[in-house]
Amino acid sequence: MSKQQSIPYKIYLKESEMPKQWYNVRADMVNKPAPLLNPQTLQPMTAEELKVVFCEELVQQELNDADRYIDIPQEILDFYKMYRPAPLVRAYCLEKKLDTPAKIYYKFEGNNTSGSHKLNSAIAQAYYAKNQGLKGVTTETGAGQWGTALSMACAYLELDCQVYMVKVSYEQKPFRREVMRTYGAKVTPSPSDTTEVGRKILEAFPGTGGSLGCAISEAVEAASNQEGYRYVLGSVLNQVMLHQSIIGMETKAALDQYGIVPDIIIGCAGGGSNLGGLIAPFVGEKLRGEKDYRIIAVEPASCPTLTRGKYVYDYCDTGMVCPLAKMYTLGSGFIPSASHAGGLRYHGMNSTLSQLYADGYMEAVSVEQTAVFAAAKEFAKVEGILPAPESSHAIKVAIDEALKCKETGEEKTIVFGLTGTGYFDMMSYEKFNNGVMSDYIPTEEDLQRGFAGLPKVEADM
Ligand SMILES: *Cc1c(COP(=O)(O)O)cnc(C)c1O
Repeated sequence: MSKQQSIPYKIYLKESEMPKQWYNVRADMVNKPAPLLNPQTLQPMTAEELKVVFCEELVQQELNDADRYIDIPQEILDFYKMYRPAPLVRAYCLEKKLDTPAKIYYKFEGNNTSGSHKLNSAIAQAYYAKNQGLKGVTTETGAGQWGTALSMACAYLELDCQVYMVKVSYEQKPFRREVMRTYGAKVTPSPSDTTEVGRKILEAFPGTGGSLGCAISEAVEAASNQEGYRYVLGSVLNQVMLHQSIIGMETKAALDQYGIVPDIIIGCAGGGSNLGGLIAPFVGEKLRGEKDYRIIAVEPASCPTLTRGKYVYDYCDTGMVCPLAKMYTLGSGFIPSASHAGGLRYHGMNSTLSQLYADGYMEAVSVEQTAVFAAAKEFAKVEGILPAPESSHAIKVAIDEALKCKETGEEKTIVFGLTGTGYFDMMSYEKFNNGVMSDYIPTEEDLQRGFAGLPKVEADM
């Protein structure tokens, strides 16, 4: 008890205690995630094929199922020092407000200008591109967090950065767009007429507001059309989850210092990178049979990839130019309804997390956005931080679990990932505050339409 009472409001690691390696959970998995497939031949993608699109070192990381730990290069460690360690906060005020015996902690990743955890992988990917002697990188961004993070990393390393931004966001989120441009990135609304795939989509769907899958296709094409450019991606891929393991490594080191053992670990899941990173070292212990934790992935009811999707090979993008991944998916043609958590509107899920979920190492729940914003507001009032709508999915379920503890009297320890801040999401908060936000849950027919477009791959049969 006395040990618990002495736990500070915020636990910060000292510089000397910061993790110097990423943890690769695939090394400890018996059932490895299925390999990426070439969309033409449906054979596993080789390193040679992947190198045409991705940076060399990142291809090695993508294919590496063997090495448990990977050294973080010194330049990246130096960059991390600008905004890390991220604090692990004991949510004393929230606990008091909820009158729960549960102990709640959150790992706050919003302490940088991009406002989210995405910078952890952006700097790694920009570093490897620079190291390879490339001129620049291309990417897509939905709500804008990834584009912002990448433009910051590229500015730091003096690398050219070209961002295809989903058109609705480009128009509705001018502030994120301008942050990117301030850091020197070139931002193009997608679909655009600068790529063949963009022109095709514009022809088929004139006036479309675009989608993440479509912007990915454009960014990939743009990279392959320019000498010295490669494509980078802010989520979904295993390399991204690897970089994000810094979140979990720091969290575990901080908890270990005080002898705290979580019962439940919660994270929001879009493409799966923050959740995968947060839980990585804990899942590692589970996989090795050393410890057990309840792990909960939280997704929007409007885009229920894990809870209602299929575990099959699918395209990662709408244009079907990217490799196929075996993952939980709603189909690359599934267009989720306009949700205010743009970062969670992806049809698929990281293949490692998908395999862990299929093998029963984690649970998944879906929540509706009005309940999410209500939780966000409750959290903001007592903990001071105005959370991103994406992060608030995790807040909602952390509160739900804490309230269950109140009923049963159990003193469970809950850790959740607070992935970012919501300052650029005030239009969404405005809708909620005005009482005009609605919930949309796709019908079975909506889902069937998405599934109908799934490729027929023998490996699934
Ligand atoms: C992008 C984003 C997410 C979702 O992406 P994952 O890859 O699933 O982590 C969650 N929260 C914030 C703040 C984001 O920007």
